Amino acid sequence: MADHSASMQTKAIHAGEPDPRPAGAAVAPIYQSSTFLFEGDSAYDDVHYARLSNTPTHDVIHGKLAALENAADALVTASGMAAISSSLLTFLQQGDHVLVQDSLYGGTHMVVHRDLPALGVEVSVFDAAQPDHWKALLRPNTKVLYAETLTNPLVKVGELDALAAFASEHGLVSMIDNTFASPVNFRPIEHGFDLSLHSATKYLNGHTDLIAGAVIGSVDRIEAVRHRVNHLGGSLDAHACFLLHRGIKTLPLRMERHNSNAIRIAEALEQHPRVVAVHYPGLDSSVYHATASRLLDGFSGMLSFEVEGGREAAHRVQDLVRIPLVAPSLGGLETLMTIPAETSHVGMSAEERAAAGVTDGLIRMSVGVEAAEDLIADLEQALSQIQ
Ligand code: PLP
Repeated sequence: MADHSASMQTKAIHAGEPDPRPAGAAVAPIYQSSTFLFEGDSAYDDVHYARLSNTPTHDVIHGKLAALENAADALVTASGMAAISSSLLTFLQQGDHVLVQDSLYGGTHMVVHRDLPALGVEVSVFDAAQPDHWKALLRPNTKVLYAETLTNPLVKVGELDALAAFASEHGLVSMIDNTFASPVNFRPIEHGFDLSLHSATKYLNGHTDLIAGAVIGSVDRIEAVRHRVNHLGGSLDAHACFLLHRGIKTLPLRMERHNSNAIRIAEALEQHPRVVAVHYPGLDSSVYHATASRLLDGFSGMLSFEVEGGREAAHRVQDLVRIPLVAPSLGGLETLMTIPAETSHVGMSAEERAAAGVTDGLIRMSVGVEAAEDLIADLEQALSQIQ
């Protein structure tokens, strides 16, 4: 399905497109139909029905996503959380044990630390930067290992190659949330992971106008997740597939700008006297810089920073900036700012946040594609007023 030799930009535009093109349309049409004529298909999953993610509109986007990460197959879902929860519930059942990274997106944290234990799944936590500690966590019933390429909101990078190799050596299904990196900066299957998961709401779509998820991997693993999604119902509707398909075509172009803007902003923030910490793996000063440089093709547009004065000062910055929108989520054209302790991580207890290093005054930025110099000037005028 995937042409591994083409460049990312060419694949983003041409991979997965129907051949021949229906009615000669340059853009794959949207099949806004919930059902399709029955043509004697014998198995339930062969019937063409939009919840089964098997319409021509789904096929196109599955092919393109697989190609972007040099994988065999892909599946889109109704949200990133549908991709994550359905994948976990495909490979875990009552009595199993899962290894999860210590710092996870808030929604995922809830699933693994609240919902999975309620279903009888045991959970242990690992530090992705400490390979020597992983083996001691294994149990006879350990089935899945779950990580994130770049963590939220501190943008940490673990020993990802070693993690995938460890999972493979011990027969675990390895899953990684690749949302923050995007396929442009990291392709998990190339590094030995079994499943790459995305909130396609973010960089993959890139226009802040839909909710979607994606699971990428081998034909067998995707088939297994597809069965679970068919039953749980978290499939993506045709119109959202169409919009996501349109968004993905510019992913490489957008990521180039997200990557270059974020490094310039991180460097400017690091020099600012009111800023006490900047978390961005693209900075030479980051403890994750060497690992990130080895594993990634770019450092993404996500960064976080702390200003002098804690929560109150962070609020002042948010009030004073003129370009960034103060909103959760990430990966769109517009720069977004948020205080994770009050948004993505609000569901965690204060102790859990403290353990994860999410301080009350931490500001997370999803750096957009505006002019970097405008964003830097705006941040400087805001910071100069916080005293
Ligand atoms: N994974 C990460 C890293 C996220 O940031 C998010 C949402 O913010 C999700 C998963 C969940 O995605 P969605 O909101 O599309 O369900």
